This record gives sequence, structure tokens and C-alpha cells, in this order.
Amino acid sequence: MARDLGPKCRQCRREGLKLFLKGERCLTEKCAIERRSYPPGEHGRGRIKQSEYLLQLREKQKARRYYGLLEKQFRNTYQKASARTGPTGENLLRMLETRLDNVVYRLGFAGSRAQARQLVRHGHFLVNGRRVNIPSYGVRPDDIVSLKQGSPAESIVRDATDLTASVSPWLQADHDGLTGKMLKWPERAEIDTPVQESLIVELYSK
Ligand code: SF4
Repeated sequence: MARDLGPKCRQCRREGLKLFLKGERCLTEKCAIERRSYPPGEHGRGRIKQSEYLLQLREKQKARRYYGLLEKQFRNTYQKASARTGPTGENLLRMLETRLDNVVYRLGFAGSRAQARQLVRHGHFLVNGRRVNIPSYGVRPDDIVSLKQGSPAESIVRDATDLTASVSPWLQADHDGLTGKMLKWPERAEIDTPVQESLIVELYSK
């Protein structure tokens, strides 16, 4: 499966905020944003001419990088979101939030979305008792996500739960049993992703 293998901290510095792409390191003073909070590259500290298009593009890139998707995957998700009833921006965020890799991360079973994606890809998680190794799998209300019994990844998952301060309100996690449940579809106010989805809709609507 295609992945963005570029430097992760560079992505945060480009977007000017922490995207929490590296797990535990993001919580320490080694975080690159703490040390160099300006954009990367030779002209990183130069003046950038602002435009409406640039604002929209940066917002889309921020969301795409936050969830760890490539452009094509992100655009496909947008197209599916626009075909649904209701505001496209909210649909988009809801679809991104309920991806299995994101749910595993939000439940606290992985230190980053990239780690969650790898754990899912390697078949360590079950949804309603059945192995699912598709990171983009859409989790639905009442679905139970659990670590496969006897999984060699158990110590990694337990370490990740130790780092987890809170679990999203639309999810319920049992960190001892390593199982979680999706209680309901997330409301926009319950999604703390720092993006203005209306700018993404404006960009793709051109
Ligand atoms: Fe981003 Fe984490 Fe790197 Fe900090 S340590 S810049 S939050 S990926």
C-alpha cells in the first residue's frame, strides 16, 4: 500500500502546527516544532505571499497529512463525502475519523496514526470478532474493535495506552481488555482536528 515516506516533522513545520505524526516523540521537547517553528527549506523564514488559494491548499494538506493519506486517497474520500447527504465538509471529517486506523489511534491502542495503520495492516485488530486488515475500513456505531488474542503486538499496544490521556467521547475504550466500542457517529464538535473543512470544500469545488 502506498504511503508518504517523507520526513514527518517537516510536514508539521510546513503546516505550522503539531500533527502528532511520531507518537511519543511528539510529546517531548525533541519535537521539531518546539525547536524550529518556521517552515522548512531555504526560504522557510522568508515572506510568503498569501492568497485565497494558498489558504485552501494548506488546509487540505494539513487534513491530509493529519490523517496520513495520499492525495488520491484523500480526494476519493472527499468524493464519497460529497455524494452523501448533509454538509460535505462534516461528512469528510466524519469519514476520516471513523477509518479503522484512526479509531485504533483514538482508542489509545497506538502511539500515532502511522503505527495504528501498520498494526491494522498486519492483522492485529478484529472488528466484531473478525480480522480486518484494511486501514480505511469504515467503523460504524456499535462496532467492537479489539486486539487479536495472543497478538505479538500486545506489549506495543499496552505501551500506547499508557500514553493516552483521553479517549474521544464517541468511543469507549477498555484499556485492560484492549477492546473498544464506537458509541455513535461523531458530531463535528467532538472532532478536534484543527482544520477548517469549509476551505477544503472550496478548494475541491473549483
Ligand atoms: Fe510533528 Fe511529532 Fe515531529 Fe513534533 S515530533 S514536529 S508533532 S511529527
